[in-house]
Amino acid sequence: MKIYLNGKLVEKQDAKISVFDHGLLYGDGVFEGIRSYNCLVFKLKEHIDRLYSSAQAIVLKIPMSKDGMIKAIVTTLKANKLRDAYIRVVVTRGEGDLGLDPRKCKNPTVFIITDKIVLYPEELYRNGLSIVTVPTQRNLPEALSPQIKSLNYLNNILAKIEAINFNAEEALMLNQNGLVAECTGDNVFMVKGDCLITPPTSIGALAGITRQTALDLSSKLKLKAQEKLITRYDLFNADEVFLTGTAAEIIPVVSIDRRVIGNGKPGKATLNLIKEFHKVTKTEGVRYAL
Ligand code: PMP
Repeated sequence: MKIYLNGKLVEKQDAKISVFDHGLLYGDGVFEGIRSYNCLVFKLKEHIDRLYSSAQAIVLKIPMSKDGMIKAIVTTLKANKLRDAYIRVVVTRGEGDLGLDPRKCKNPTVFIITDKIVLYPEELYRNGLSIVTVPTQRNLPEALSPQIKSLNYLNNILAKIEAINFNAEEALMLNQNGLVAECTGDNVFMVKGDCLITPPTSIGALAGITRQTALDLSSKLKLKAQEKLITRYDLFNADEVFLTGTAAEIIPVVSIDRRVIGNGKPGKATLNLIKEFHKVTKTEGVRYAL
């Protein structure tokens, strides 16, 4: 496997970075998770824009242009001969000393990993996920904006650990006011009547790119898209619930905190949305040739 590391393609075993890299020492860096489907990189521009916006928010200058980054991603995909891939782009503050001071880090580290995609097991898409609300609240957006896709995922990891301890696959995270925010790596949606509802990002959720795709597809499904505050009560009484994310795509949720959602099976709107989503991933994206 070839890894892009600071301008070069290197073998996986040679893709090493310093223990003084602030990405490792402090989680000081940003990343993106992107997918390609049959040689089409899905929503590449949106992911690149989000990466550069995250970097801008932490005063990290990515040492290449957006076009240069796109070329590097395509080069890495080609080097690994991947038609369908999960792409991880990471930019760290770079090597510094043991203090926090980012001025000591002269050169950001850039690496790109392209790998085969590992999905949730197929049966979870057919039967739906069971999730639980966890005690760890989503980071206060006023303290650390969830729009910054930073390398510090401890908030989400703690929530994931709590879900696993309750034998659940995924954690529902609330914000400081007890409102539904998102899951550990996915946005959350509910269907009620003819409305497709997701919380506004301002309550402390990432502006997911799959989330936006789902909102964009709502009219095709004759659903009214709404960004609205949601409580656990609302989710328990929804007709359907599902999660969205680049890796998970769109995955139905059939139980939350042992409350069965709807009829306990993935709902019609969710299944239709999954179909429409797959149509888009087959036709849209930045094409590359192997
Ligand atoms: N929320 C969080 C916290 C995430 O890490 C992710 C995945 N990166 C998402 C939501 C989903 O975002 P996207 O659809 O852009 O992958």
